Amino acid sequence: MLSTMQDGQLSLANLLEHGSRVHATSQVTTWTDQGPRRETYADLGRNAARLANALRSLGITGDQRVGTFMWNNAEHLAAYFAIPAMGAVLHTLNIRLFPEQLTFVANHAEDQVVLVDGSLVPLLAKQLPELKTVRHVIVANGDPATLQAPSGVEVHSYDALLAAQPDTFDWPEIDERSAAAMCYTSGTTGEPKGVVYSHRSIWLHSMQVCMTDSMQLSPADRALVIVPMFHAMSWGMPYAAMMVGASLIMPDRFLQPKPLAQILASEKPTFAGAVPTIWQGLLQQLEAEPQDISHLREVVVGGSACPPALMHTFEERYGVPILHAWGMTETSPLGSVARPPAGATGEQAWQYRYTQGRFPASVRARLIDDDGNVLPWDNESVGELEVAGPWIAGAYHGGADPEKFHDGWLRTGDVGKISPDGYLTLTDRAKDVIKSGGEWISSVDLENTVMSHPAVAEAAVIGVPDEKWDERPLVAVVVREGQSVTAEELREFLSDKVAKWQLPEHWTFIDEVPKTSVGKFDKKRLRAFHSQGKLDVTHF
Ligand code: ADP
Repeated sequence: MLSTMQDGQLSLANLLEHGSRVHATSQVTTWTDQGPRRETYADLGRNAARLANALRSLGITGDQRVGTFMWNNAEHLAAYFAIPAMGAVLHTLNIRLFPEQLTFVANHAEDQVVLVDGSLVPLLAKQLPELKTVRHVIVANGDPATLQAPSGVEVHSYDALLAAQPDTFDWPEIDERSAAAMCYTSGTTGEPKGVVYSHRSIWLHSMQVCMTDSMQLSPADRALVIVPMFHAMSWGMPYAAMMVGASLIMPDRFLQPKPLAQILASEKPTFAGAVPTIWQGLLQQLEAEPQDISHLREVVVGGSACPPALMHTFEERYGVPILHAWGMTETSPLGSVARPPAGATGEQAWQYRYTQGRFPASVRARLIDDDGNVLPWDNESVGELEVAGPWIAGAYHGGADPEKFHDGWLRTGDVGKISPDGYLTLTDRAKDVIKSGGEWISSVDLENTVMSHPAVAEAAVIGVPDEKWDERPLVAVVVREGQSVTAEELREFLSDKVAKWQLPEHWTFIDEVPKTSVGKFDKKRLRAFHSQGKLDVTHF
């Protein structure tokens, strides 16, 4: 029996029309070197229509790809809506990729047009001759004359181009399963691979972002979106905000701790999202120059494991709860969110909050051991996490890396355990697991424990070869400014916190943990430094 219900398409054109009309007065604030620049969602709707008209006038048709090489700002947001709503495909280019990777992803996606921020023109200019399919570059917030384009590429001013366009667009009817946007993985563990989101997957994911067991976005929120729009779609916050009318605060290129503190003071956001390293930096800034941040009802932290010490400091010193979440570019990215279950209080609630979180109804999960067996959810059995669902990738663009997918499941490459009530605890990435004498040591657990020492700003743990045990942990420590601590003291500190056989015997002190293009610990580079003998290691 077929249902008697309508089959309305979950398209981003509908989302844009809804948000710009119903939430016409909600605001997008972009931070600039002159302070805040504001526009309403009604303005955003008109600018998105102008941009769509402009792209049509440049010959963009069908599902052609339009790249963005932008900070988080109002122009990027207009592109987020205009490009998918007109039926084309938004490709957010990661401005921090290595040059060869940038060339690779733009050519692989066959980008026809690139929208670039004025401040990023020099960075793009270097690679532009290598971008084989690009025919037009649109410069926003800058002077197009600064770009020397190779022959065959036309350069336009965003403002001039849009000024000449009508502020309405006849948005086409779009099949909700067609491509809306694409994002390449940041390549922490290999070559970037393209994930292509559909209108439907983005719509459903946006609903989840707003749900009470998730980020709880509402019209009362002013959400500071620090996680870049080129990184896993800013964790879905821009689309979710449009759905419910939450106002957005875009930090543009002002991502260092000091300007972030200024943005907090000026705009008093109620919500924010960023990777742990951003919050670590902000914490040091707040310690140096205290300010009230209690206007934040909550901040969401993911992308890497959030150290419990960071959660405690934020909550106990500044009254701001951290909500820990797990996800991947491949999962749109919301996979699990760590809200404790009803009734959990005190220490028990904290134990839940440290986990990577609970799976929502739309994300199915299972753990697989080395022999392919499905493991129980007993919070003990450790295996590789696999997930499936309507906003989880089922393939990469062009069929890259097919072994990541099987029987309708995505192999995440993450290793962990799941509790009977559906909370995920990750112990490692498959490639970062340390195998010592046949037993696994969790690099994440060790890092968190070392980082709970007051003198430690950051700690990254990698496995290094060992004749007797195969691999043993090496801890790379960054000491907080103005403090000091020795390897002996840290080993002593760990001695009653980790099992004796896990106690690391290799320690090194570094100025900074190398980071990937999206601010995660870059263990590939740390391992390379070690094998090239560039680290000064103390052995016990
Ligand atoms: P890349 O794979 O290039 O790093 P992603 O941003 O897609 O880019 O990274 C997803 C990965 O980040 C996950 O597979 C997981 O290893 C890690 N990750 C994300 N959130 C968390 C978290 N809360 N705790 C631990 N690891 C996380």
